[in-house]
Amino acid sequence: MMCAARDGDLVRPAAGAVATAPGSPFSGDPRLPQALAGAGTSVWEWHVDTDVLSDLDEGTAMLGYAQAEVESTQAAWDALMHPDDRAGNDAAYERHARGEAATYEHEYRIKARDGSWRWMSERGRIVERAADGRPLRMLGTQTDITERKRAEGLAQEFAERLHKIARHVPGMVFQFVRTVDGSGRFAYVSERCLALTGIEPQVLNVDATIMLRATEREDRARVRESISRSMRRLRPWRCEFRLHHPDGSLRWLRGSATPQRGVDGAVLWHGYIEDVSELHELEHARLARTAAEAASRAKTEFLSRMSHELRTPLNAVLGFAQLLQIDAAEPLGTRQRRHVGLIRESGEHLLRMISELLDLTRVEAGRLDIVTTEFALAPLLRECVDMLQPQADAAGVSIVLEAPEGAGPAVPAGATLGVRADRTRLKQALANLLSNGVKYNRRGGTVRLSAKASRKGIVIAVADDGAGIAAKDLKALFQPFNRLAQHHSGIEGTGIGLALSRALVREMGGEIDVRSRLGEGSTFSVTLPRGAPRDAAEPGGPA
Ligand code: ADP
Repeated sequence: MMCAARDGDLVRPAAGAVATAPGSPFSGDPRLPQALAGAGTSVWEWHVDTDVLSDLDEGTAMLGYAQAEVESTQAAWDALMHPDDRAGNDAAYERHARGEAATYEHEYRIKARDGSWRWMSERGRIVERAADGRPLRMLGTQTDITERKRAEGLAQEFAERLHKIARHVPGMVFQFVRTVDGSGRFAYVSERCLALTGIEPQVLNVDATIMLRATEREDRARVRESISRSMRRLRPWRCEFRLHHPDGSLRWLRGSATPQRGVDGAVLWHGYIEDVSELHELEHARLARTAAEAASRAKTEFLSRMSHELRTPLNAVLGFAQLLQIDAAEPLGTRQRRHVGLIRESGEHLLRMISELLDLTRVEAGRLDIVTTEFALAPLLRECVDMLQPQADAAGVSIVLEAPEGAGPAVPAGATLGVRADRTRLKQALANLLSNGVKYNRRGGTVRLSAKASRKGIVIAVADDGAGIAAKDLKALFQPFNRLAQHHSGIEGTGIGLALSRALVREMGGEIDVRSRLGEGSTFSVTLPRGAPRDAAEPGGPA
């Protein structure tokens, strides 16, 4: 029944007795063994000297053997015991026999008649010893615990499964218990706890207040209150709070859990805590962006109204100045004519600036009507050059218009490059670039206007060999009102032209890029969607 035979008096042999031996302590009243058998437990008695084991019939019956099938010998019982469990069984008995353990206790596997292994839990005590201390008699019980072992195995399997799953979820899975007296503890914390909070799960199991102490001071009362509320109403707990991680970061955590009240009034939550710091940062950025956009809209609105309001009186000033210049009835003196000329010049500069500003605010607000069509590029380039020629002549700069390249096989002979854009607005943008090429140049300098078809579309380049732009200034180039190094140069300008040109080109689905070297010149390239090749003889086309 129990252990392998050994030499020496302390070792109790195994047994397999099938009948109640005479003199059994239970033979007088069979009710006790019967009651125990009903509860899955059988009793036995072992006479060490005679090696007789008695009262084993219930035990063998539990295993499905007929009484005659299992001899009441140690060898027979030993043969039934799982070989891996025998040594442990011996050791348990020896510990008790030597007086090191108050009882003999062991769990082992034993073969049932149907060939399956059953788990037994056995307990016993030596009740009689010889004068020299040798064990003489031992009483004990054995209980079939196969079902319990199976349940334990299942529970273990579930626990391992939960452990594996919990390890793969990004946050921390937990169970938290709060008793009616208000004290709380984490009954379970998954190992992700360490990465999330910097606290070892075992530490949190013992002391839940560590978590609260790591919580940002301002958030603690809110966390406590949210738990109490969930406990009172038995409603899901949800809370976002900041936690000081030992790595020095302050993290936003979001917790959620479902409460369940136990019979003792304590509440057990099953929940999950995750790191939502990134979400918070994104939300912060979104709010900042929304505020910046609102501010930008307000600025655009203001500029748009201002420029509109300024234009009306300015037109009146210019109109009356012109009237003074041409009034034949009261002709102006030479000095007066010069002064009125200056008024007109300054007024026109102001008007140009206001018009550009108005355009810029409109395009930024999406209120500028851009109508794209397909048209021949060459005539437009010619018009731009003609428009800027007087300014170039005055500055001693030559403008060279190069014949559009890249007609290639896609463009039949006699045809010219076609582009898709808003013709008027493209002319405005190109005129602006050409004007800059002339303005930020030197006497004898050149501005080249060229166009070619590329993989990206049509690329129109305005290249000058003038002042160039320092590398450090290039980032700020398209910012409105930023005149870079030209603020005090005496060259007339507003700092709106490039910002407006880029906004216009982008509205047409294109882009402006720049390459420049200080002292060597700059090339501004406008890329636009390609249009179908145009007939060179189309109206407005090249003569
Ligand atoms: P503006 O010419 O009225 O100042 P822009 O927006 O057209 O305004 O240009 C902004 C600034 O960029 C100019 O003030 C000048 O410093 C620089 N810039 C623009 N085009 C050129 C160029 N072709 N060569 C050198 N600098 C240029």
